[in-house]
Amino acid sequence: MIMSQKSKEHIDACRFCWMCHHICPVGNATGQERNTARARALGLSLVNRDTLQVEDVIDNVYECCLCGGCVGVCITGWDPVMFTKEARLQAALEDKLPAYINALVDNCLDTGNAYGVTELDGELQAAVAAHAAPTDTLLVLGVDARCKVPAQAVKAIRVLEKAGVSFTVLANEPATGWQMDFLVGAAEETKQQMAAAAQVMNGYKTVVLYDPNDAKCVKQTYHEYGVETTAKATTFTAFVAALLAEGKLEAARSDRAVVYQDPYQLARDLSETEEPREIIASYAVLGEMLCNRKETIAAGNLLMAEYIPQVMEQVAARRLFNAESVGADTLVTACVGEYAVLKAVPQDKVAVLSIEDLILG
Ligand code: SF4
Ligand code: SF4
Repeated sequence: MIMSQKSKEHIDACRFCWMCHHICPVGNATGQERNTARARALGLSLVNRDTLQVEDVIDNVYECCLCGGCVGVCITGWDPVMFTKEARLQAALEDKLPAYINALVDNCLDTGNAYGVTELDGELQAAVAAHAAPTDTLLVLGVDARCKVPAQAVKAIRVLEKAGVSFTVLANEPATGWQMDFLVGAAEETKQQMAAAAQVMNGYKTVVLYDPNDAKCVKQTYHEYGVETTAKATTFTAFVAALLAEGKLEAARSDRAVVYQDPYQLARDLSETEEPREIIASYAVLGEMLCNRKETIAAGNLLMAEYIPQVMEQVAARRLFNAESVGADTLVTACVGEYAVLKAVPQDKVAVLSIEDLILG
């Protein structure tokens, strides 16, 4: 496999190191060394030395959720997310992707979402249709919410309605490209999908991104890939926190004690940690998880649940155990994908709520 000199250097730096294993959500959940950054690096270093074939390690390359926990704690500045994404891109270019990843990529290209969903849930269709008229503000629900968690997508719409916001939701919302980026990195097809979405978003003054995956993609990855945006892109949580501060949403604080699960895309990538806390503290008594803010640990990934569902359940179960360990009986998340994976864990010790659940009561 052809890899850049930069990736080779990072791979060789990581391959005999063990210092970030404690933060890896997947490695911690499975208890398997293969799921840590250094094991992935060791496998890729052997591919780079022609001792293994890429096919021998490609499943392992897709067991990483690209959460950046390892990058955040690496005091020497090495970057497993960078070389893992490059390995995915190169495997795609060399036609060495596993069939289960090819199927997801094909769905992204054919239907705009990796799940291959072609029709929205009926209640969501009606909620979206009520906001078909053009306005200055576009609410982007994202593929996870639209295709897999439509009830939460409806709740996001209801929150903005409750605040009296005039906004548009598109029946045929373009994919921002985050799923393609997750699956194959900076491929031409990924950039084309991003550019097409940017063109639509640039027709609005403000774009509110409900899914933290979309927020990270539009606010960070677009710039890295040279995709131009002129609309003001904001996270759903920052937008709602401003509505609260302006008095457009009424705070109604209950005695319910909750902890907040920081989505890594908001906390680590976009440095947004306080806006969700401002919202939650307006409706409940906010406590903290161990490993919070930039040190958060991912609670699951809905896209990965398509091909390693048991592992994603283990990841979510472990984060619920983290909440239970600090005495919490309710966890609030601002990521619709994490919400779905956390909700799918069969357990009754920790209730899982979204920020919309808190606001709508
Ligand atoms: S990212 Fe840093 S801490 Fe983690 S394996 Fe690589 S060198 Fe070690
Ligand atoms: S990016 Fe996240 S899942 Fe991947 S190796 Fe690093 S900590 Fe583990």
